[in-house]
Amino acid sequence: MANNIGLSVRQPERDCNDANCPFHGTLPVRGQVITGKVVSDRMIGTVVVERAYLHYVGKYNRYEKRNSKIHAHNPPCIQAKAGDTVRIAECRPLSKTTTFVVVEVQPS
Ligand SMILES: [Zn+2]
Repeated sequence: MANNIGLSVRQPERDCNDANCPFHGTLPVRGQVITGKVVSDRMIGTVVVERAYLHYVGKYNRYEKRNSKIHAHNPPCIQAKAGDTVRIAECRPLSKTTTFVVVEVQPS
């Protein structure tokens, strides 16, 4: 049985026994929810998610494209792969650089 994490996302189909899984473990999510693209899945249990955003440059009255990379915990029941579009939710710090967890792989 999966926990209700308080977000309108699809439940993962698989089960897992990861304590840091918001669905099957004891990890609360709160704060920001961000959509981005997985650019690296080479770490064990963690993915790198890139988020594109527009930054306004007043001098030229235009927007410039910027990217930021966010590390996100990747629970075994979700297993996001490089190239996937994912939703990540903010959680407590899981390591020095990881404060987000993947909650959904969006259908492409
Ligand atoms: Zn899980």
